[in-house]
Amino acid sequence: MTRIKDALDAVAAAIIAQKDYLTDLDAKTGDGDHGLNMARGFRAAQEVVEEMDDTSKPGPVLQAIGKALIHNVGGAAGPLYGAGFVRAGEACDEDTHMNVVSMEKLLRAAIEAIQKRGRAEKGDKTMLDTLIPIHECFLPENAQGKTLFEVLQEASKAAGEGVNYTKTIAARKGRASLVGERSIGFEDPGAVSSMIMYRALYQFLK
Ligand code: ADP
Ligand code: MG
Ligand code: MG
Repeated sequence: MTRIKDALDAVAAAIIAQKDYLTDLDAKTGDGDHGLNMARGFRAAQEVVEEMDDTSKPGPVLQAIGKALIHNVGGAAGPLYGAGFVRAGEACDEDTHMNVVSMEKLLRAAIEAIQKRGRAEKGDKTMLDTLIPIHECFLPENAQGKTLFEVLQEASKAAGEGVNYTKTIAARKGRASLVGERSIGFEDPGAVSSMIMYRALYQFLK
């Protein structure tokens, strides 16, 4: 199964295509490097995965992506996303397939790792304001009676709403917290990159 590698290529292409947009956004409330950081990280991840002999199982591939992000991205987001991918990879087992249950588990593992490392909560104006609403769509109580594709679509909508929400709040974590209230009115770059990654995956799967 080369599908996980193809999914990585789809996500990497989307991030690289939005590099300047993400960087411009980060220049408004931060130091203007988020797109550069993410593009560098995903290029490195693609190189590492390209060298792997066996990309048939999602666990090792997700872990390799995570390590590449940790080691190649200097900013805050790289190591946070990296930790998320590593933990999601560790949460995979022999029969992890693309379905609502495994998506819920992998997203939960990733969010836990990001929160353990970054100590941010929903409402702090970070990537978590996108990732947490995405994850909530896959919870049994919300996904009950729906097909995988219905849930994937709802989560895409939730990602957009999460990004819009970050426009209304002040940053309490990361570099943007230095400008505090002045960050209101701008989308959080990490929330946007999370939406881009998720939507690239969704487009790839549907
Ligand atoms: P840096 O701020 O070091 O330049 P980036 O620009 O690559 O790093 O990433 C900034 C993004 O990282 C923010 O938009 C935010 O979404 C995310 N971020 C920063 N700190 C945290 C944190 N503690 N928890 C979760 N996400 C965070
Ligand atoms: Mg930055
Ligand atoms: Mg930086």
